[in-house]
Amino acid sequence: MERKIICIVCPVGCEITVREKSDGEILVEGFRCPRGKEYALREITNPMRVLFTVLRVRGGELPTVSVKSSKPIPKKLIKEAVKKLSYMEVDAPIEVGDRLLENFMGTGADIIATRKVEKRLKDL
Ligand code: SF4
Repeated sequence: MERKIICIVCPVGCEITVREKSDGEILVEGFRCPRGKEYALREITNPMRVLFTVLRVRGGELPTVSVKSSKPIPKKLIKEAVKKLSYMEVDAPIEVGDRLLENFMGTGADIIATRKVEKRLKDL
């Protein structure tokens, strides 16, 4: 098995090759620093991604607020996470950086607001 991975840890974008030899040994080539090797190995075992989505807002000037996870979560959980979040609602007002949910799905990541949503005027 051989996979080519572009490292996204920094802007250099090294092309890293991960190869599994017939005896099971994993060879990693093409990285310029240890962070790249670590990234490539994680990509083939348990890829992680920062989650970006929106949450519904109760009583806000906008119906939704954009959010992201405070750190990458397992890629395999992203679909389920977006579905769970689509059923949730948070109360306005919301400030950028507010932690709306803690330790979401036991990942250790919090769900953070990435925009401000004021209270709807008629609700003030
Ligand atoms: S391997 Fe290191 S230098 Fe290359 S893109 Fe990844 S982090 Fe940057």
